[in-house]
Amino acid sequence: SLSDRLTATFKTLRGKGRLSEADVDATVREIRRALLDADVALPVVRQFTAAIKERALGAEVNQALNPAQQVVKIVNEELIGILGGETRRLRYAKNPPTVIMLAGLQGAGKTTLAGKLGRHLEKQGHRPLLVACDLQRPNAVNQLQITGERAGVAVYAPEPGNGVGDPVAVARQGIEHARSQHFDVVVVDTAGRLGVDAEMMQQAVDIRDAVQPDEILFVLDAMIGQDAVATAEAFRDGVGFDGVVLTKLDGDARGGAALSVRHVTGRPVMFASSGEKLDDFDVFHPERMASRILDMGDLLSLIEQAEKAFDAEQAQAMAAKFASDEDFTLDDFLQQIAAVRNMGSLKKMLGMLPGMAQMRDQLDAFDEREFDRIEAMVRSMTPLERRQPRIINGSRRARIAAGCGRSVSAVNDMLERFGQAQKMMRAMKSGGGMPGMPGMPG
Ligand code: GDP
Ligand code: MG
Repeated sequence: SLSDRLTATFKTLRGKGRLSEADVDATVREIRRALLDADVALPVVRQFTAAIKERALGAEVNQALNPAQQVVKIVNEELIGILGGETRRLRYAKNPPTVIMLAGLQGAGKTTLAGKLGRHLEKQGHRPLLVACDLQRPNAVNQLQITGERAGVAVYAPEPGNGVGDPVAVARQGIEHARSQHFDVVVVDTAGRLGVDAEMMQQAVDIRDAVQPDEILFVLDAMIGQDAVATAEAFRDGVGFDGVVLTKLDGDARGGAALSVRHVTGRPVMFASSGEKLDDFDVFHPERMASRILDMGDLLSLIEQAEKAFDAEQAQAMAAKFASDEDFTLDDFLQQIAAVRNMGSLKKMLGMLPGMAQMRDQLDAFDEREFDRIEAMVRSMTPLERRQPRIINGSRRARIAAGCGRSVSAVNDMLERFGQAQKMMRAMKSGGGMPGMPGMPG
């Protein structure tokens, strides 16, 4: 899949100190092949790879992120951009009912979507009405009625036996019905053909002109691969649309349609359907789709790891301590350090998180061996000294310094730092904040 291909590409960059132009070229070539194999449209592939190349070459070499991480970050950001950046929400009419018209090929998933969308709207507090304007197929009206029933959403359908149906008239009647019955959103289901043809397009245009939709949603089967682009262009030029709904994402392992349609048509993907059930439907989130395509398991597991380091038990003990009147002791200090160490190499961890490049200076100044030194000093203290640090006078300091092989002034520094941590804890206690990680060497 596209995810696997991209992940494999990023792997080859791991461990590289910096990227040469040849590295970048090889990577971009691989990404290009992976995208093409995933049926991403050529213009999209071109723009995408050009942007990656430019940014990867221009990236500062001396950042906290290593080259592989930098490339992942760049690719992720470009993916989100190609997918449309931010989620585009439905626009509602100032004077209800808001009219949403569905257009797309037969089998794209319009009728199924009408039910899903209706239910979604109802959950949002709207009162939707589905209008059956597909009079092309004998069973289409019935299908929408069943879908509406399942979704618990009202359906307006033409009277049976009224001769050959006129979808434009039904659309008009449906809106009239919504107005008189106080439905505030109307979803107009329309007919489609297996292929794009002039008659179908004309029918959609006639319905459009009759009802003047607030939103025309183009419903696109993500599984049709390369054909997606041509179909989307035909509908854009024929009927026009405001947004796209991608369906059957559950069956599309490649992601080509998702990545192409926005760029090719200039219209955002607004919703995504990923199964036949009513709940297999969601607002489309470019960021989520990008991370699904990128499959950034590494990064996610790293964050998870960091969260786990503060295990529940420890957190509870800390919370109890926090709630009590007891003072923050050197033992607590040690425990906090241990918790931080539990996360693995802190520097590495911070370095892998996106957006940490600016923290480079702090990271470089940060020395994990400082933890060892603090631990050694605290371990040279007696239990009483750890609990009541204020008893640590000059002679005790000399003894502790000798015990851990450090200078007295190093011990003084550490105690000073601890004193600040203690103060901070006291302040947080009285302020009711959460325990942080005070006194971290930096
Ligand atoms: P229409 O002709 O555009 O109205 O398409 P339909 O709503 O009748 O859907 C055509 C077929 O695709 C039906 O069998 C649906 O159950 C199925 N379908 C619709 N949406 C999805 C989806 O997101 N995933 C899957 N797997 N099937 C879908
Ligand atoms: Mg249908």
